Amino acid sequence: MSDLIAAVATAPGAGGVGILRLSGPGAARTAAQVFRPAGKISLMEAPDRKLLYGSILDKEGRVIDTGLAFVSRGPHSYTGEDTAEIQGHGSPMVLSLALEALFAHGARQALAGEFTKRAFLNGKLDLTQAEAVIDLIHAETPAAARQAAGRLEGTLSRTIAAIYDGLVDLSAHFHAVLDYPDEDIDPFREETIRTALDEALVGTDALLATYDRGRQLTTGVPTAILGRPNVGKSSLLNALVGYDRAIVTQIPGTTRDTIEAKASVGGVLLNLTDTAGLRETGDEAERLGVARSRAAAQEARLVLLVLDGGAALTPEDREAIALAKEAPACICIVNKSDLDQVLDLEALGRDFPNLCLVSAKNQSGLETLGPMVARLFPTGDGGEGEALLTNARQMEAVQRAGENLRRAREGLELGVPPDLLLSDVENALEALGEVTGTTVREDITSRIFQRFCVGK
Ligand code: GDP
Repeated sequence: MSDLIAAVATAPGAGGVGILRLSGPGAARTAAQVFRPAGKISLMEAPDRKLLYGSILDKEGRVIDTGLAFVSRGPHSYTGEDTAEIQGHGSPMVLSLALEALFAHGARQALAGEFTKRAFLNGKLDLTQAEAVIDLIHAETPAAARQAAGRLEGTLSRTIAAIYDGLVDLSAHFHAVLDYPDEDIDPFREETIRTALDEALVGTDALLATYDRGRQLTTGVPTAILGRPNVGKSSLLNALVGYDRAIVTQIPGTTRDTIEAKASVGGVLLNLTDTAGLRETGDEAERLGVARSRAAAQEARLVLLVLDGGAALTPEDREAIALAKEAPACICIVNKSDLDQVLDLEALGRDFPNLCLVSAKNQSGLETLGPMVARLFPTGDGGEGEALLTNARQMEAVQRAGENLRRAREGLELGVPPDLLLSDVENALEALGEVTGTTVREDITSRIFQRFCVGK
């Protein structure tokens, strides 16, 4: 298999600009077969990152577009290898012909994430930064984008490195004492070890405490839309996502299964589940839907309780209210504000301090929802500067590091032998190394890069 990889880096479909990327040995030579500069300098001789204007050629050497190209030689490139980029118009036909031409001249199709994987293997990025690349590409809120940009720049790497370095010092000290007992090395000072372990534990605990917020930024807050049939749950979901995701009908029980959609509300990403209306039913399919809606409400971190402001509360409404009260966070949405209102808002307000009056059908009043969601789920400063754990892989590794440190800490108090303490410290180091990728297993890295799109 050729080591020179190529791919279209821009999204599929027609657009203003389309970019082809190459990385690996001979990147400039192959790119030069497909790009003919208008000026005298060829791509092979061009200085790094100097844009040349010229023609893009198909594999027979016929002109198919005009555009720009540059080379960026390793190690000062994204992947750390020799790379080249050709930028043409965003025409799927042109891009596919040009890519075919690159293949004819020795490149092969890049796999998903292969450019970033090479950057990782060549030490240009650590694993948290590589994950930040994919999070940045998929960011659905401004805060998520800022947070990923911060991680790409190294916020999480630096926080992990600080804990890691402290433990390396400690481990080195253990080794010195254990391996060279005859040398004149400072004997173990319990207090020093205690302090070092405590500092590391403070660090891992603080990181673990960020996980909920980090996950919230990248995957969204699990949110259930709850209410009896026909109060307007599907209409609300459609209004929030901005398109008709759910069917809206006048027949109660239309949403039999749960429908899921993402929406950014108040700058917070919500993972909305439109549940089947809560009511007892003889219909088997609907009964399953009702059971699922109860489960969704119980798993949710936010419940959007929907009531029909134009109708008196029914036993089913009361059941929904009872379920909503148990949720970790709830916003009561009194819908159909365009109709004559019969509900006692004051009484409802006592149960639900977060109460808003909307008309999902007319899309009015929904603007009050954003600030409530933002208050309930603050994204922090969205923080470029703040290190957050954003996925289960990172969280699990930091948790394992913490467990080993805690064991070492307890062992110290119980007077266990230093070599056992050392083994706990080394396990903690290995777990922390997994977060940044210094000690991570190949199968895990492969899984991470498979999540990327081709061309990144
Ligand atoms: P669901 O069963 O709770 O999902 O309710 P739907 O969203 O399917 O809506 C049930 C009915 O209520 C439909 O006929 C909607 O057009 C209507 N509806 C929804 N929102 C409003 C609203 O704000 N005002 C009025 N007047 N009708 C609404």
